[in-house]
This record gives sequence, structure tokens and C-alpha cells, in this order.
Amino acid sequence: MSATVKKYVYQFEEADEHNKKLFGGKGVSLIQMSKLGLPVPPGFIITTDTCVDFYAPRKAEIDSIEAELSKNPPPEIRDRLIEKVWSIIDSLQLPQGLWEQVVENMRILEKKTGKKFGDPNNPLLVSVRSGAPISMPGMMDTVLNLGLNDQVVVGLAKLADNEWFAYDAYRRFINMFGKIVLGIDEKQFNSVFEELNEKFKKEAEEKFADELQKIREKIPLYTPRLDAQPPRDIAPRLWQRSVEYLKELVEKYKEVVKKNWGEFPQDPWKQLELAIKAVFRSWMNPRAIFYRIMNKVTPDIAHCTAVNVVTMVFGNMGWDSGTGVVFSRDVATGEDVLYGEFLPNAQGEDVVAGIRTPYPVSELKRISPQLYEELYRASKLLEKVNKDVQDIEFTVERGKLYFLQCRDAKMTPLARVKTVVDMVKEGILTKEEAILKVSPEHVIQLLYPRIDPKAKATPIAKGLPASPGAVSGQVVFHPDDAVRWAREGKRVILVRTETKPDDVHGFYAAVGILTSRGGMTSHAAVVARAIGKTAVVGAEALDVHEEEKYFRVGNIVVKEGDWVTIDGNTGNVYLGVVPTVEAGLIPELAEILAWADEIRKLGVRANADVPADAEMALKFGAEGIGLLRIERMFRKPERLELLRKVILAENTEERVKHLKPLAEMIKQDFKEIFKIMDGKPVIVRLIDPPLHEFLPKPEEVLREIYELRMKNAPENVIKEKEWLYKRVTVLQEANPMLGHRGVRVGVTYPEFYYYLSTAILEAAAELKKEGYKPVIEIMIPQVAEVNEIRYVKQKAILPALEDVKKKYGVELDVKIGTMVETVRACLTMDEIAKEVDFISFGTNDLTQATFSFSRDDAENKFLPLYLQEKIVPANPFETLDVKGVGKLIEMAVKMARASNPKIEIGICGEHGGDPASIMFLHKIGLDYVSASPFRVPVARLAAAQAALKYKS
Ligand code: ADP
Ligand code: MG
Ligand code: MG
Repeated sequence: MSATVKKYVYQFEEADEHNKKLFGGKGVSLIQMSKLGLPVPPGFIITTDTCVDFYAPRKAEIDSIEAELSKNPPPEIRDRLIEKVWSIIDSLQLPQGLWEQVVENMRILEKKTGKKFGDPNNPLLVSVRSGAPISMPGMMDTVLNLGLNDQVVVGLAKLADNEWFAYDAYRRFINMFGKIVLGIDEKQFNSVFEELNEKFKKEAEEKFADELQKIREKIPLYTPRLDAQPPRDIAPRLWQRSVEYLKELVEKYKEVVKKNWGEFPQDPWKQLELAIKAVFRSWMNPRAIFYRIMNKVTPDIAHCTAVNVVTMVFGNMGWDSGTGVVFSRDVATGEDVLYGEFLPNAQGEDVVAGIRTPYPVSELKRISPQLYEELYRASKLLEKVNKDVQDIEFTVERGKLYFLQCRDAKMTPLARVKTVVDMVKEGILTKEEAILKVSPEHVIQLLYPRIDPKAKATPIAKGLPASPGAVSGQVVFHPDDAVRWAREGKRVILVRTETKPDDVHGFYAAVGILTSRGGMTSHAAVVARAIGKTAVVGAEALDVHEEEKYFRVGNIVVKEGDWVTIDGNTGNVYLGVVPTVEAGLIPELAEILAWADEIRKLGVRANADVPADAEMALKFGAEGIGLLRIERMFRKPERLELLRKVILAENTEERVKHLKPLAEMIKQDFKEIFKIMDGKPVIVRLIDPPLHEFLPKPEEVLREIYELRMKNAPENVIKEKEWLYKRVTVLQEANPMLGHRGVRVGVTYPEFYYYLSTAILEAAAELKKEGYKPVIEIMIPQVAEVNEIRYVKQKAILPALEDVKKKYGVELDVKIGTMVETVRACLTMDEIAKEVDFISFGTNDLTQATFSFSRDDAENKFLPLYLQEKIVPANPFETLDVKGVGKLIEMAVKMARASNPKIEIGICGEHGGDPASIMFLHKIGLDYVSASPFRVPVARLAAAQAALKYKS
């Protein structure tokens, strides 16, 4: 090796298992397991840096194409871009010096295994496997059985004393190599296979009936197939015939390769070189690119893929061999049992592909208690070292166990939460580590809806509960259709026989996934869990016709566009829309949130307008109400009627006449909520929206007048309507959102705010007399100038407080504050803070005010394009715009604390429930966030995570 060439290749034992960036996730797992002394077949890793160097000469071009793709272009353009990228890649050469190191390391493998690459007498075969630093399960490519050719296969057969096995490996290799490395359409291999398979099945039934009969006596489920080895001892003639078929298949496969690419490369070294390049290229697979885009893996995080070259071990050598995937705990429920699947006499990809239905791993315990025990011990060891539930790929070759990969398991939110709580109790994790392992999305998903137990619907089929939640949607059968329909705003459920990595874009578009085949570790199940989509897999009663776009269950036919409901908690499939209910906190979640409460600095309150909201908020752990909007109380018809009269009144006297009974009515509602929240703060916001929102539209009134005239209605009735028309026209505004609303109404009609305050305070006073401890905060909306606060305090709120105290003879614990939602309020916070006990940022309006655009217009008209073109990084109404709005808030917080050290500061916009925004709000030192009741658990967790992340 010359001094100028980098070290590109490492044997497992010499590499660093902590350097995931250099060796990739799969690589570090192989290094780690080797070093822990677990049986791993010998192998080496070509580093991710090598792949980076491979792409380097054309990186700029490739990056710009990837950026185009991330804008989600229509399929035609997408396909053209991908073609372009691949033609660039195909022109690339392996980095200088790499090949020599590969050869050198292959020699080391030969030494370790005592076999020789390409030697028919004792052949070494390898797998060439992708493995990126970021987890992208199944998104890139792997080639197995590499090193086989026409001579080697003969040697392998002799060595294994099993021709069937050798030719099965060879036909798999040509198929896989042809598809992945040479880019030949899989369908061409499949049609050749199907043709011969049919012929074989027919011949078996016709000419080997006697042997078949014998097999079935022992193995009732056996059916002759070209890819399942007939038991040689029971049916030697059938076995021999199937070998001949496999040989023919191999020849036919070679013809497919020749037609599409050229003579199948017989030189194992050539095979190896091409496979390494193909694995590099698989980093730019459409599905890998798409996965990175959807998961927001930006180029600065992504670091290409490593290539793992691993000595082959064979799970398809006979019935004492097999392959499987095992999880160290149940990834559906979190129960502490080995969980997974095992397929005897099979090679790796057979399990994932869902061709044959595997056994549960518990079956292995019966077949070989010793193997099971070995697997169990290794899984617990790996769990401890990696501090997480493990997902382990293994193969058994003639009774000997080998480990081929391990990684942190993806699991249902339920299992995630249960396992971290258990692991804290087992001493594997600290509480802090546990909190950081649960993502806010997990919490959101745990509150996913379930089928309403009262619904009494009968399922038409049952599959495996692969990913939780219960959803209804219209059925589509193609991932592209899912994308198209979703774009039109439809809720769709993607139904497939089974899914492939190429279908992933459809997963994102759908609300749920339903398949008729595959187990809990099938592609559909794994991906759905990973991205949090409800999924039911392996619903075998479904007869899915993807091309014709329908499925059948018994005599029910469900066509594209029909509604179904799937329940990922039970696996049930229902026809039509079945009602769902929201879930509550499970005990493990409650426990982890209690730990979170000990750690977080931010308080968590809820936005709640009605008693039901308040109850839910309490149930989810809210420490108070951060925003109670009075407006919701005016929805009842008799109240709305009174409110209209108040708004339409032409003088104070008339307004007061209607305000008095109105205040009395809403007082009861306040009492109810304050009672529920007893002892906890409740912030009530005085009336805020533009008043016209409570009035009929002028056109409506005009039409009514016209109709009354047509009916010859009495003149006084018409007169009254005409007056109404005049009033609503007068009250009309050019820009209602920027008009006569919020505190401005309080200034123009102080009696309005006086009576609203009276209702609030009397409710509190009455409760206090009944022995409750109401903690009330009155909030003034839309303030831009401190004098507005002074004015309504003097003219309305303080007089109301005095009057109520006098009337009831009680002291009241009341804070007066303001909602901060105008830019000027932020800028003049030094003045405002002196005048109030608390402030609460209304970040919805503040965001509108800062951007000077309205939310509805933005989200409906131009924001989608802004997001697509990356003009803004995220929807500022969902995730706080830290650069702009955040700066304003931070500045206001500083001023507020400086001029009023006792001030209480919170936020009550939707951002209060957004984890990313919570990080920021913690950092700038808010006292609490207030979120919708359903977001309260998320906020509790996110606040604790923020506290842990900013600890140092
Ligand atoms: P993926 O990243 O898609 O899981 P892998 O590289 O892990 O792809 O390979 C898929 C499967 O192929 C493995 O789970 C394993 O069963 C099988 N496999 C890979 N390498 C070997 C090997 N050296 N010997 C036997 N089986 C292998
Ligand atoms: Mg794998
Ligand atoms: Mg507002």
C-alpha cells in the first residue's frame, strides 16, 4: 500500500465499533459482535469515506439532482432525473487504491476460513452488503452467494454433498446479481421461474405421485415448488428431478442476463468489483433517496454507505439449518420475551420477502433448546451493551448459530414506552436516558384513536396488528395512486399483497397500510412502524388483485375508492367507516411522564374552553389552564341572541341591560371549570374576536328584508330588520382581523369588559365561599400600547374586582395580565411588564403580525409553494419561527424580566405543543407552555427532554 493511499478497508476485529460514521450501522454491529466473541462469519468493511470518494468527482451534479428530487416532481420528471443520476454513477471508477486493499483483505478471509475465492475444490463465497451510518432498513442493496460460477457450483455441491443446495444458491445468485448489480428487470427472471415451476409441479403430480404421497404423510403442508427442497430421504427421485430443473433454471437465467447485459461474468473477482460498485450506487436508489427526503436526512447528516463483505454461511443447507430475525423483546407489546421469526432451510431474504410463512421464534425452543438459549443470552448481552432492545439477524448452518447483524429495534410506541420503563427498573437505563429514548411522536401515537368499543362492527378479516392506531380510508392498490389521491385531499389506505421498498412513497401518502401476506417483520410492518402509520399485515383472507384494483374476502368485493377501517391494535379489518375513540394514558406512559415532571423546568398548562376540555387536560397532567377563550361560551342560542343585542346596542345603557343577564349565564360555566381546576391557575381571556363574527352578514339581512316585503310582512317587523341592516353595515370593517377587536372593544365599551370580569370574579367568589380555592388570571388580548392596559384596568377590571369583593366579602387571588400578540407589545415590553402580573405569548397572531400575512391565506394560497421551494424551512404556524418571531419573543422576555422580576411568562399558541418549539421556549426561560389537552403529554415529555439537552 503506497503512503498516499487512504486506508479504505478494515477487518471486523481491527475496526472501531464506536465509529458509526465511518463503518455504517451494519458495520459497527458486526465489529461489536465480533469483539464480544459472538459467532460472526469473518468479514471486512469498506468505509463510508470510500463511498464519499467514489462520488466525489461528480458530487456537485449529483447533489443538485437530489435537490430537484426533494421537490417531489411529477413521476415523469422524477424518473428522468433518476436515470440521469444513474448514468453519472455508472461512469464513475472505484477510488484509487481500493481494489488492492479489497484483494488483500479477501486473502485474509481465505486464511481465516481455510477456503479460497473462486476455487471449485473449496470455495469461499461472500455477501456484499450495504450499510449506512443512518438507519435505512431495506432501502439499499445486498448481494448474497457471490463467488459462484459454473465450476464453483459443482465444487460447492460436492462439498455440501447436496446438488440441490448448490444450484439453488447459484440460481439465487444470478437472479440477485442480475437484478441489483446489472439492473435487469426482476420480472424477466420471475417469468422464467414461474414457467419452469409450473412445469415442475405438474410433472411432480403426474410422475412422482407415490413419493409425494409419502412426503405428505410426514409433512402435510408440503407442496412441490422449485424453491423448496424435497426431502431427499423420502423422495429421492423427485429430489433428483428437481435438481435437473434447477440446473435448467440456471441456464435460462444466464440467457436472461446475456440478452440484457452480456455473458454472465464467470470471474468471481469481476463479480466482486461490480457488486461493490452496485452497493455504492444503491445509496442513490430511488427508494433510498426518497427515504432520506421523507425522513429529512439532509446531505450534511448523510454520509453515503459502507460495504460489508461477509463470508457466506448457509441457512439453506438442510432442515438442520435456517435463518431468522429475532428481537430481544416483543416489539409490539414490549413484553420481555424473545420475539421473532425463524424459517428452516432458507436463506435470509426468504423471511423478509414473505414467500414462505416463518415459524415464531418460540418454535426454535422446541426444535433446539440449546440454540434458543444461545440466542437468548446473546440478545440480552447486546441489549445491555447497546442500552436498547435489539433486532438481530441470524442464520443457522447445520446446527451452528451465526450472527449477521444487530441494531436498535424499531417498535410500536406502546412497546417503546414499556421497554424503557422496564429497562430503568432492570438497571439498564437511567431515568434520564429513558426519557430521551421516547420520542414525542411516540407519545402522540400512543394517544392514537382506537375502535369505539360501542361500535359493534364485525370485522371482515383479521391480520397481524403490525402498527397501532385505527383509521378509516378509501382503498387504493398502487402507491402512485395513493400519492395522487392524497394530493386531492383524500384519506387512503394502501392495500397490497405484500409491499416492497419501492412502495414506500405510498406509505407516506396513506393513512394506513393493509397487506394480505407477510409477518410482523415483513417490509410493510417494519416501515409502517418506523414512520408511524397504522398497518395490518398478513390478512390472509384477503384475495388482492392489484392490477384489477379490487380485493375479495369470501363473497365481498372491495373496489378502489371503497371505504374500509383497519385497526392496527388488533389486526381487524372492517368494511366502511367504523367510529373510533381517543385513547388515554397507559400506566407506563404515566410513569415516564411522572419522571419527566421531576426533570422539566417548564410548566405545562392546557388550552381549554369547556369543562370537558378541562377534565381531559387534568387527566393528561396539565398544571392549569393557559388559555380559556370566553367566546366558546356564547355558542348557545339564547346567549348568542343576548350577545348580538349587546353588540348592536346604540348606547351604554342599552348594552348594560343585556350584559347583566349574559354575565349571569356565563358565570355558571366559569364556576364549573374553576371547580374542575380547583387550586390550579386558570387564565381567562376577555373577549377577543372581531365583533362581526357574532352577527349575521349584511347580505343575509338584506335578503330577509326582501323576503319579508314579498310576504307583505307587518311594517314594524320590516323596520326592525332595516335597523339591523343599518347597524351591521355600520359595524362592518375593511380589515376585521386588524379592526375593532380585543382590548379595543374594552376601551370603547368598558362596561363590556366590566361585566365579563364580573362574571369571572363572581364565579370565583362563590366558589371560594363554598370552600374551593380558585386561582384566577384575567388576560387582556390584542394589546399594542401600555395605556390600553391602564385604561381597561381602571375603567373595567379593577372596579369589577372591588365590587365583587364588596358584594361577597371575600379576598380573591387574581392576576391581571396580557396576551402578547402584536409586534408593538413586544417592542414596548419594558413598559407593559410593569403594568401586569403575567404575560402570555399568543404566537398564532404574533406570527401573523410578524410576517404580515394571515394564516388562512398563507396556508391555502402560497405557503405550500414556500415550503416546497424551501423559501421557509417549516410552516411557521406549526413550528415557531425562531429566527424572526422567536427573536421578538426572546427580546420581550428579557425586557419583561428586567422591568418586573416577579412577572409570570407563558405561551398559549399552538406552538406550545410542538416539541421543536418547546426546546426553544425552554432555552429562553419561559415559565410554562400551554397546549391543547391532547398535546399536554407531549409537552411534558418535550419539556423534560429540553431540560436534559440544555443541562450542560
Ligand atoms: P438488509 O440491510 O436489507 O437487511 P443485509 O445485508 O442485512 O440486508 O442482508 C439481508 C439478509 O441476507 C440478512 O439478514 C441475512 O439473512 C442474509 N445474509 C447477509 N449476509 C449473509 C452471509 N454472509 N451469510 C448468510 N446470510 C447472509
Ligand atoms: Mg439486514
Ligand atoms: Mg389572538
